[in-house]
Amino acid sequence: MPNGGSDCCGTCWFNEAKDGQAGFQKIAAGRIHRCLIRNFKIENAFWTYCANHPHHNRERIETPVGPVYVAGSYPYARTVLHDSVDTEEVRRSLLGLLEKIAETPAEEYPSPTTFDEEVIKQLMSFREERATEQLRRIAAFDPNSSSADDKPFGRDRVLTVALAIEALATIENDEALDKIEKAIALGLPPLDPASYIESEDTFAPIRYHAVLGLKHCTSAKAKALLERAMSDPHSEIRAFAGEILGRAADV
Ligand code: SF4
Repeated sequence: MPNGGSDCCGTCWFNEAKDGQAGFQKIAAGRIHRCLIRNFKIENAFWTYCANHPHHNRERIETPVGPVYVAGSYPYARTVLHDSVDTEEVRRSLLGLLEKIAETPAEEYPSPTTFDEEVIKQLMSFREERATEQLRRIAAFDPNSSSADDKPFGRDRVLTVALAIEALATIENDEALDKIEKAIALGLPPLDPASYIESEDTFAPIRYHAVLGLKHCTSAKAKALLERAMSDPHSEIRAFAGEILGRAADV
């Protein structure tokens, strides 16, 4: 049983050795593991992952969505093994999938490789300018939106919104500052600063990714937002804002 998650190539219907089936069926000795949609030989099927796996992609979409990842030993962080190919066909497919992202998230196996978020991350990586209108729509979602039927995992839209804001800044640079300015103030000041606990700060990922987005902005307003983030209650956000400001000062 893979400890890095069951959304691995060893249980994927796109693995040639699975003969179109998803799940933990026994695979005959000597079968070659090969991804049929990404066309590569899988060396370690139970430790290799991507968002096209059926846990994330029940519609069997065959366009590569995001990179292929591998996980190492505990804490099983996933790192990129193969980047997505970059073709016009892939970009168009991702843009179509971006349009389908709804404010209320569907039920999905919890893992670091969720479908909608990989769509956004890949378009951000491509710096795809045709994505901006949809990214603005997604950035305006209610981050707390969640489906009542999604038990026990109860996904929300915090990370989706956070990534949409970072992607906008990566693509549009300072033109995204309207979104970043709102995001960087989300959840602040804490209701009770004296008993603030970082791990309970629901909106910290949005502020964090907004600060990441500021790496791509150069105006005086962007600098002022970074300075504001230096007093964020979350230590990682403060540290990262300081790092970017330091970097800007060094240029
Ligand atoms: S790389 Fe992705 S689509 Fe291919 S077999 Fe592995 S999990 Fe399935």
